[in-house]
Amino acid sequence: MRAAPDIRTGGCMCGAVRFSATLTSAEFGACHCEMCRRWTGSALLGITMPMANITWQGAEHIRRMQSSDWAERANCDTCGSALYYHVTLDDPMADNLELCLGALDDASGLSFNREIYIDHKPDSFAYAGERERLTRAQILAQLGISDKEGQA
Ligand SMILES: [Zn+2]
Ligand SMILES: [Zn+2]
Repeated sequence: MRAAPDIRTGGCMCGAVRFSATLTSAEFGACHCEMCRRWTGSALLGITMPMANITWQGAEHIRRMQSSDWAERANCDTCGSALYYHVTLDDPMADNLELCLGALDDASGLSFNREIYIDHKPDSFAYAGERERLTRAQILAQLGISDKEGQA
């Protein structure tokens, strides 16, 4: 573990967008849903943190796309790198975002604690190690979201 506070820098592939983030937790998760798969090309590895904990440089290059009725996804408008996933509902969750782990300059020393939509993961790969693994139905039940609204 690193000394607190754990401040991590990062940015997109081309460097137009840079950030400094103060982590509130060392734990991150993976989402295997279809939208995250298409968005990232594999699975979304994301670390949850308050939006207020991130200072952006080049924020004018952040392109946000409303990807569902309740969430948006942010990319660099120049190189297309995925930056974060954000719930836009009027909900306490909206104070947080899911920062893409791959955007960190150094993602070492963190703990991979959860995979969701595990039943949507292609059978051709699997992340090694033991952790909580939830199906689509399990995560929707946990979030109190009806099956119909469950498109991430
Ligand atoms: Zn970029
Ligand atoms: Zn997802």
